[in-house]
Amino acid sequence: MLAKADFFDNLHTQGIALTYDDVRLMAARSSTTTQSVNTTSRFSKNVPLVVPIASAAMDTVTTAPMAIEMAKCGGIGVIHAGLSIDEQFRHVRRVKLHTNGIIDTPITVSPTDTLQDVLDMCAQKGFSFRSFPVVDDSGKLLGLVTRRDFAFAIDFNTTIETVMTPRSELTVGTRKTTTKSAHKTMQQLRRKALPLVDTHDVVCGMYELSDVTRVLRGNPDQYNLDAQGRLCVAAAVPTDDGALERIERMIDYLDVAVVDTAQGDSEFAFQTLERIKHHFPRLDVVVGNVSNPESAAALAKAGADGIKVGQGPGSICTTRIETGIGTPQVTAVYECAQAVAQYDIPVIADGGITNAGDISIAVAAGASSVMLGSGLAGTKESPGDVVMGEDGTMVKMYRGMGSASAMRESEASRKRYGATASSGKPLAEGVESHVAYKGPVHDVMDHYTKALKKSMSYVGAADINAHRASTKLIRITSAGIRESHPHNVRVI
Ligand code: 5GP
Repeated sequence: MLAKADFFDNLHTQGIALTYDDVRLMAARSSTTTQSVNTTSRFSKNVPLVVPIASAAMDTVTTAPMAIEMAKCGGIGVIHAGLSIDEQFRHVRRVKLHTNGIIDTPITVSPTDTLQDVLDMCAQKGFSFRSFPVVDDSGKLLGLVTRRDFAFAIDFNTTIETVMTPRSELTVGTRKTTTKSAHKTMQQLRRKALPLVDTHDVVCGMYELSDVTRVLRGNPDQYNLDAQGRLCVAAAVPTDDGALERIERMIDYLDVAVVDTAQGDSEFAFQTLERIKHHFPRLDVVVGNVSNPESAAALAKAGADGIKVGQGPGSICTTRIETGIGTPQVTAVYECAQAVAQYDIPVIADGGITNAGDISIAVAAGASSVMLGSGLAGTKESPGDVVMGEDGTMVKMYRGMGSASAMRESEASRKRYGATASSGKPLAEGVESHVAYKGPVHDVMDHYTKALKKSMSYVGAADINAHRASTKLIRITSAGIRESHPHNVRVI
């Protein structure tokens, strides 16, 4: 059977490009088991992955809840750019601080508030917690009230200062206090909260015992963590100066910026990449999307730390129908990965993953990770409500960022698809859809991860690099794809 390069070179000579359903992987002699397989990879030059899966920068896929679960499952989430700068910052920060258990800006109360005032505020804002640092007008710590102070109160018209534990009796931490040491201190003191203060005794954070316990009880071996043990997180930015403003705001909490445009080989994309690299030289920058090797190589040469490949394969995407452009995804991924190999940067296969096996095919074609939209939309953690679909099943909305409604609502979407104020109604390059409700993203990621490990054990690839380098692909026919799915039976 042909080596991988010969397989693709042959197709290239004939001008043929393939996608996932056109190929399968060849099983091979294997001493690899699903237990021994190593799925660690890279999202960008310096940003790791425990499992090579990212969630798409889409407003029906990735905000903080998705990105937190993705990183806890070993992947990474790309917070979409349809949010305001402030909102996107808050989502990124929420992911970054999740495993710390730090509450970044705790709700504080005033010493002259009554207990009833505080309970009224909780009811109005829907707060279920009852630990509040008590501060003066300049934010200085005066004391702490916790659930216990409310539980033992008889007169709720008494002021907070009469029931609080005063500053003189409080143990506090600083922003350098680690999750583990905060946990130890709270256990020793039998306290449910540990306020954090700066050098002026101004409150700058807080640990809550329940959060910290949850973090320490997780499965950190699977978590995708940065060097300081915090969850990795990415954020999409548009191809203009807005990118710099967004990154400036998020920089303390961000691992990687993803320059997000439907045409990655554009003057705007190169300019944005250059500017980000100039102002934030230590931040990894992924750029996309492209689908031909010349574009990928040019972006790599210009300093991109990762290339996102995929023009038109997305499930909600109509670019190929409307414009006729785009290379089918398996060939696009292979050729782009080959083109950037000398720059030692990874390729992300973005869009078109329909079945779990497609993830393994993308990696075998050369991708270091895949990006999923529809595969993760419709989960508990994707934005939006679960509603009853027309057939009575539970569904969630999933829409293209270039769909008519997304472009109407979001400047970032219009930017991604190059719509300008003067060009009138923008050409939609995506659709709105419903996808079946899938439950927690953890279960979905567990399925994908198990399927990838199983696939790697069939082909005898001990790790992602071996899979990318050696696994052979074979072209199949429509009879082959029919044979691949359950057939001649009624599945129950
Ligand atoms: P999926 O995993 O659903 O097949 O594809 C998700 C990917 O489709 C996204 O990561 C993004 O690159 C791409 N995408 C999202 N919205 C649109 C759209 O409206 N039009 C096009 N052409 N691509 C889209």
